[in-house]
Amino acid sequence: MTNKSYALNYEEPLLWEHRVSDGCGVDLPVPKNTALKTGQTARETIGWPKLKEPQIVKHFVRHSTKNFSIDHGFFPLGSCTMKHNPRLNEKVARLSGFANIHPLQPESSVQGALELMFDLQNWLGELTGLSGVCLSPAAGAHGELAGLMTIRRAHELNGQGHRKIILCPDSAHGTNPATAAMCGYELRVIPTKETGCVTLENFKEALGDGKDVAGMMVTNPNTCGLFETEIAECAKLLHAAGGYFYCDGANFNALVGKVRPADFGVDVMHINLHKTFSTPHGGGGPGSGPICVADSLKDYLPVPCVIKTNAGFKLETIEDRPSSFGRLKGFQGQFGMFVRALTYMMSHGKDGLKQVSEDAVLSANYILSKLKGEYHAPFGDKTCMHECLLTDKLQKEQGVTTLDIAKTLIENGIHPMTVYFPLVVQGAMLIEPTETESKEAIDGFIDVMKQIAKDTADGKTEELHANPQTTPRRRLDEVKAARQPILSAKV
Ligand SMILES: *Cc1c(COP(=O)(O)O)cnc(C)c1O
Repeated sequence: MTNKSYALNYEEPLLWEHRVSDGCGVDLPVPKNTALKTGQTARETIGWPKLKEPQIVKHFVRHSTKNFSIDHGFFPLGSCTMKHNPRLNEKVARLSGFANIHPLQPESSVQGALELMFDLQNWLGELTGLSGVCLSPAAGAHGELAGLMTIRRAHELNGQGHRKIILCPDSAHGTNPATAAMCGYELRVIPTKETGCVTLENFKEALGDGKDVAGMMVTNPNTCGLFETEIAECAKLLHAAGGYFYCDGANFNALVGKVRPADFGVDVMHINLHKTFSTPHGGGGPGSGPICVADSLKDYLPVPCVIKTNAGFKLETIEDRPSSFGRLKGFQGQFGMFVRALTYMMSHGKDGLKQVSEDAVLSANYILSKLKGEYHAPFGDKTCMHECLLTDKLQKEQGVTTLDIAKTLIENGIHPMTVYFPLVVQGAMLIEPTETESKEAIDGFIDVMKQIAKDTADGKTEELHANPQTTPRRRLDEVKAARQPILSAKV
């Protein structure tokens, strides 16, 4: 069924591959006898495809219908919290007073918007127990950078600029070591393999005397879906050695309303508004990654934070807080996302947010308990948090791998879970159902997973290798696509 339109699914060529029609969308005559006034050479024609407006509209609309999204179906992508985006958020973000303002307007004319940001700072400060909040980072990874730059600035201004080591467990999300490297830090890995967690013993060994340690970066709950039970003890030792604890907050959906990260020793944490607080994600973005810090680091946060003065709300400048490491982004951050996130928080309230994390954890444990017979669950003896980890260990003996399982889910109308991450677990499948999926959807997923396990046991290996069978494209050479992308037929 490939390379051909079928039913109402179109096989859509690239723009460059359209048969060139002899015109374009506009029929202005070519201007005659024009000379370039600036004396530059005229730009040669670069061979854009000549398409008319209706052709272009169809092209992009057809592509847009090939997307899969959380509004289509089950999307249990671990470490991503693909939860429903309440439509109320969208309605509020579209109010003209929020949607039609400009960052260069005088502050006196946007007091309501600044108050909204101030309130969001306070909500995030309350939920994390870290009351210094800067909303400006544009994604989780950007928040990590902001957090480590805050730590670096604090060390530098306190005569500790020689501290060059960041401790990070081997199960960390790739952005953690990448951020540390971008900040000029050296990485020292804390091994977690046997338990999936940072143990006090392994931590102590990595810390050493701690004199050169700037901080540690740990995700809690971690990427194996487990709560780090010894992390508070580790944080105490780290603080005693003069380091700061950066918590990657991408997994906050398991804790929100239940646990304040400051209480297990966190000094800095980023929040992915597009994960925990239901603002759109991926293609629907943009992302937003505010950071929250403890009192000891407030002075070094990037500018601007929103402050309340006698004259009203105000975006700080570097003159207001010269100890800041500076500005990270043009203007104030993703304002539309602030509106959505605060709408989400206020519509859930304190009790609602607590229920969010309880239900998210319940959904993941339901899946774990239903599937741990059919699939190897490396930490299946423990309660998981908002995502559960399975592997292909049992299926691999029959030649069926995590990739085959993911492709078979696609064939069954389900977006695959996160695969082969965390890297420390062979053939990992990280499943995050979130709290917004119905029991029917979750049961549907469990049924498909059980069927795959059964088909594997029944020796239907060839069939599983052949999936997906009815998608416009089947198995792609992903390595080649990444290494040698052909983006234009003209290359
Ligand atoms: C999603 C995620 C990030 C990065 O967040 P982005 O908003 O995608 O930049 C970092 N760490 C973990 C554990 C994540 O799941």
